[in-house]
Amino acid sequence: MKKNILMRTNFLVCLIIVAGFLGTAILSYRTNYSASLQSIEQVSDLTSEGIYYQMTSTFAKPVNVSLTMANDSLLRDFLSEEAGHLDDSDYTETLQGFLSGYRDKYGYDSVFLVSTATGRYYNFNGLDRVLTQGNPENDWYYSLLENGLDYSMNVDNDEVEGAQNEVTVFVNCQIKDHDGTVMGVVGVGLRIDNLQEMLLDYERDYGVGVYLIDEEGRIEISSRYSGYEQRSLFELRHYDARARQEVLGWRQEESPNRFWTSDLDGKPRSNYIVSRFLPELDWHLVVERDTAALVADLNRQMRLTVLIISVIVAGILVVITRVIRSFNRQIVALAQSIEQERRTIFEQATGQLFENIYELDITHNRAANEETERYFESLGAPAGTPFDKALQIIAQKQIKEEYREGYIGTFCPQNVIRAYESGEETLRYEFMITRDGLTYYWMRITARLVHLDSDNSLHMLTYRQNIEPEKQQEQRLQLLALTDEMTGLLTKSATQRRIEKLLYDRPGELFAFFIFDIDNFKQANDLFGHAFGDGVIKEFTQVIRSHFRSGDVLGRIGGDEFVAFLSIPEERFAADKVKALSRDLDRSYACGGKSWHISASIGVAFAPRDGRDFASLYQNADAALYQTKARGKNGFTLYESAH
Ligand code: GH3
Ligand code: MG
Repeated sequence: MKKNILMRTNFLVCLIIVAGFLGTAILSYRTNYSASLQSIEQVSDLTSEGIYYQMTSTFAKPVNVSLTMANDSLLRDFLSEEAGHLDDSDYTETLQGFLSGYRDKYGYDSVFLVSTATGRYYNFNGLDRVLTQGNPENDWYYSLLENGLDYSMNVDNDEVEGAQNEVTVFVNCQIKDHDGTVMGVVGVGLRIDNLQEMLLDYERDYGVGVYLIDEEGRIEISSRYSGYEQRSLFELRHYDARARQEVLGWRQEESPNRFWTSDLDGKPRSNYIVSRFLPELDWHLVVERDTAALVADLNRQMRLTVLIISVIVAGILVVITRVIRSFNRQIVALAQSIEQERRTIFEQATGQLFENIYELDITHNRAANEETERYFESLGAPAGTPFDKALQIIAQKQIKEEYREGYIGTFCPQNVIRAYESGEETLRYEFMITRDGLTYYWMRITARLVHLDSDNSLHMLTYRQNIEPEKQQEQRLQLLALTDEMTGLLTKSATQRRIEKLLYDRPGELFAFFIFDIDNFKQANDLFGHAFGDGVIKEFTQVIRSHFRSGDVLGRIGGDEFVAFLSIPEERFAADKVKALSRDLDRSYACGGKSWHISASIGVAFAPRDGRDFASLYQNADAALYQTKARGKNGFTLYESAH
C-alpha cells in the first residue's frame, strides 16, 4: 500500500486521539484551576481567621497585664517616692522584685518600668539605663507620652542586658497619678520568635504568606522579618496602590477584607489577599496566597498529561502502523496471487496465440522492459543495443531472407514514427522465421503503437503469433481452389498460370508440354454410365501421375483432356517419357463387372522451341495431338515431327 495512505491514517488517528486527550486535559485543567482558586480563597480565609484570633488572644493578655500593672498602687508609690531614693539600692531591689514577680508569674521575656521624672528604665534586673530624648532607640517612649494613648505596642530589639538584643514586642502603658499626670510607663516584652514560628507553621501548613504590618505598611512581624528591619510589605511583594489602599484602608474589626490582586513584576500570577485590622495593635494582619505554586502544579500535571498522551499516541501509532503494514502485506500477497493466477490463465490462453510479447520504446530507440532486453540478448544483441540495430540482428538471425527487408522496413523506428504520425495505430507483418536455422515457419507480428504521456514517448507493443497452421490451411484452401476435385490435378486456369510462371521465371530452359486425350471416351460413358466414365478418368490420372514428379505441372484442362508440363534435360527425355506413357495408358479398366479398354492420344510440344507462352505451346501440342487422332489414335506425336 502506498506510504501516504499509511501516513494519512496515522495522522488522522493522532489528530483524533490528541484532540480527545487535549480536550479532556484542558477541561480538567480549567475545572482544577477554578476549584483550586476556590480552595485558595477558603484556605486563606480560614488561615486569616485562625491567626487573627490567635494574635488577638496572644496580645490581649500582655495588654491586660500591663494595664493592671499601670494601675498598681505600689508602682505609683514607688514613682512618687523615687526622687528620694535615687541611690538607694534597697529601694531599687524592691522594684526589681516587683517586676520579676510579674515576669515570673506570666512568663514574659521582659517586664519594665520607666520613670517620667528621671527617665530611669528599670526592669526585672534592676536599673538598666536612663532614657534621653533625641535617641531614636527611645522614640517609642516619647511618642507614647506625646500621643496620650493609654498604651502602645512596638517592636524593637531588647537592649536590656542579657536579652541579647532579641526582637521583641513591647506593650507600653502609661501610669498616671490621681490628677492624670503621667508618672511613668510600665510594660512587658514578648520575644517575637515564638510568634514567628507560629506564623511559619501556618505558612508551611497552608502555603500562605502571613504578615503583620503597621499603618505605614511596614512589616512588624512575619516569619522572616520583624519591625526591626523596617521592610515595607508592599515593596516586598510588589503590591500596587490599589492593594495598598485595600489593606491599609480597611479598619473594620473582625470582618476581613478579601480581594485578588496582580503582581506588578510582570509575571502572570495573581494573589489572593485577606486583610484584617487588629485595633489593639493598630496593625493589619495580611494573609496572602499566590497562584504561582498552583499554576506550577497544574503545569506540571499538564506536562505529565502531554507526556502520557505522547506515549499513548506513539504506542497507538506503532500498533496501527504494524496492523496496517501486516494487512497491507496480506492484501499485496492476495493481490499478487490473484494477479499470478490471472496471468497464468492469461498466459495459458494466449500462449497458443502469441509466442512473445515485447515492448519497445520507439522514441528512445530501445527495449522498454527487461524481458525485451533479454530477448535481444538471447539473439546476440548485447545489452543496451539500440532497437534498430537489434532489429537487424533479429532479421539476420531468424527471418527468411526474402522477408528481411519488409520486416525491417515495417518496424524500424523512423517508419514506425511516420506511421503513427499518419494516424496508424496498428502495424502488421507476416514473414517466415526459423529457430534452428533450417526449418522456417510463418509468423505474424502485430504491433500496437501507444503514446505515453508520462515521458512523451512512443511505445510499440509487439505480439508475435505463430501462424503456420493458419498459413497451411490457407494454402490448402488455395490449392483446393486451384485443383480439380475429381482428379486432384490443377484446373485449366491454374495450369496455365503455373506454366506461365515457370516460363517467366526460367526463360531459356527446356520444357516439354504434353496433351493427353482419352480415345473414344464418350463410348465408355455411353456403354457403362457416367460413374464408370469417372472411374476411367481417375485410372487415367493415376497412370499419368505415376510418370511425373511432384514438382511437375499436371492439369486437367477438359473433360478427358490433360496437360503435363515439366523441365527436361533434352527432347529425347520427353520422347522416351511419352512413349512409356502411351504404352502404360493403353490398358484395360474393369469396375463392377464391366470392362473397357483405355488408350490415349498424346501430343507434345517443346519450349522454347515451339512456343514461349502457354497459348502457343497449347496450340502446337494440340496440333500434334490432332495428328495422333488422325493417325488412328492410341499414340503420340511430337510437334516437331509434325513438320
Ligand atoms: P475422341 O476419340 O475423338 O476423343 O472421341 P471421344 O469420344 O473421346 O470424344 P470427346 O473427346 O469429344 O468426348 C468427350 C466426352 O467426355 C464428352 C463428355 O460427355 C465426356 N465427359 C466429359 N467430362 C466427363 C466427366 O467428368 N465424366 C464422364 N463420365 N464423362 C465426361
Ligand atoms: Mg476423347
